[in-house]
Amino acid sequence: MLDSDIKSQLNQYLQLMEGDVLIKVSVGEDDVSKNMLELVNELATMSSKIKVERTQLNRTPSFSVNRAGEDTGVTFAGIPLGHEFTSLVLALLQVSGRAPKVEEKVINEIKNIKGEYHFETYISLSCQVCPEVVQALNLMSVVNHGITHTMIDGASFKEEVESKEIMAVPSVYLNGEFFGSGLMTVEEILSKLGSKPDASEFNNREPYDVLVVGGGPAGASAAIYAARKGIRTGIVAERFGGQVLDTMSIENFISVKYTEGPKLAASLEEHVREYNVDIMKAQRAKGLQKKEFIEVELENGAVLKSKAVILSTGARWRNVGAPGEAEFKNKGVAYCPHCDGPLFAGKDVAVIGGGNSGIEAAIDLAGIVKHVTVLEFMPELKADEVLQKRLYSLPNVTVYKNVQTKEITGTNKVDGITFVHRDTGKEEHVELQGVFVQIGLVPNTDWLGDSVERSRFGEIIVDSHGATNVPGVFAAGDCTNSPYKQIIISMGSGATAALGAFDYMIRN
Ligand SMILES: Cc1cc2nc3c(=O)[nH]c(=O)nc-3n(C[C@H](O)[C@H](O)[C@H](O)COP(=O)(O)OP(=O)(O)OC[C@H]3O[C@@H](n4cnc5c(N)ncnc54)[C@H](O)[C@@H]3O)c2cc1C
Repeated sequence: MLDSDIKSQLNQYLQLMEGDVLIKVSVGEDDVSKNMLELVNELATMSSKIKVERTQLNRTPSFSVNRAGEDTGVTFAGIPLGHEFTSLVLALLQVSGRAPKVEEKVINEIKNIKGEYHFETYISLSCQVCPEVVQALNLMSVVNHGITHTMIDGASFKEEVESKEIMAVPSVYLNGEFFGSGLMTVEEILSKLGSKPDASEFNNREPYDVLVVGGGPAGASAAIYAARKGIRTGIVAERFGGQVLDTMSIENFISVKYTEGPKLAASLEEHVREYNVDIMKAQRAKGLQKKEFIEVELENGAVLKSKAVILSTGARWRNVGAPGEAEFKNKGVAYCPHCDGPLFAGKDVAVIGGGNSGIEAAIDLAGIVKHVTVLEFMPELKADEVLQKRLYSLPNVTVYKNVQTKEITGTNKVDGITFVHRDTGKEEHVELQGVFVQIGLVPNTDWLGDSVERSRFGEIIVDSHGATNVPGVFAAGDCTNSPYKQIIISMGSGATAALGAFDYMIRN
């Protein structure tokens, strides 16, 4: 079941187990059951701390990971390999008593949750962001007896996925009701459960020398550069890691031949934590004003003050803006082909957008789905030649250029797309079950209003020192008018903005 590479990795991790773990497994005669039984038995042969017991759980095939004599509520329905392999390893370690790498404050917040919370997360094994959610909820189950969590692999429980009309992963249900979909960190889950720190926790903080808003590559780099100057530095971020968390594989982060988004995001946070930086996660800024200090207001009402501020709020997927897009989000309208592609296996889908990301998505999807329709607004595709060649070599792809999406149709979920040929005005409708929107990004700068000068695309205008038109306010990364949006460029501009801010501070 496990290849020698995985086994040797696993061997090292299993050495870290502290106490005994009992795996209760519920299996039948199907192939997934057989593989699951093989997997858990293999785990038991690798560590004397792991015991396996056959039982009947709510779902078959599934297995739960428990302390001896005490159920933790951590269950895997489906085989947690692929991207979920780390979720399995962490569950074994944490259930065995190994302390999770999470702030004490967060652990206490989890412990303080009262009541019964039964979470279920539908995932696909190719989904890059699903493990973050699975691991957050597993951790919560391990820490709090009132919380249980089951990871459900959509490929092993197809009927359940169909009956719940799940078309995006991760999709989380709480006590049988839809709770949320997409990436959620443990802090975000806690805040959705109502245990968000209120304004009083932030209001009395001393003003910062440099406050960074945004925790992606640009923000992390800016915070490290500022803190290394020995000045009082804070970083406030809605989701630490930023877009990197949605990234499948990274091969152009120079000096690192290959890494994966969530791994890089974790390293960014770990690196920032090496320094004396006040980290405020799961917090969203909603306004900026220059008074005696520069003041950043958070959505919870708190106001943070700083001598200099670095804006690094990045960008998000651009919407196509057609009727049906918002209505059918997660009901056939998707933005992450790596995550949601497997849910459309054997179905017909469209990709809107003929740039590199759109054509890469179409090529990926063509290997999974029955047919892909590509819709490009301009008369020609904008993707690199090599991608176009590959696309046109595929038998199950149709490309429409010079067309505008008019409507994504459906009743409870997507059933088609209507578009207009821009040269003739002729309308066309294609019946399909999924639409992947891949038309680029828009900067997360709306919250700034007129406080800082922005381009007509909403990008913050910066000079060569990362300075904006407001003295003391700097910006870096994808939220700026930098022509290229890449991790390494964002990190570089974060460093520039921090050095620019330090320069500004010592002169003022
Ligand atoms: C699918 C995908 C694949 C990619 N692949 C690659 C690749 O292989 N190589 C590469 O170099 N680049 C890649 N990129 C681009 C790269 O991820 C970005 O250029 C980079 O992440 C930008 O960093 P950033 O810090 O400027 O912004 P982001 O990564 O967008 O981070 C923004 C931060 O600001 C926070 N934020 C936003 N609004 C607020 C607010 N109001 N208040 C508080 N916090 C806020 C966010 O939560 C986040 O922490 C990819 C991007 C995507 C989407």
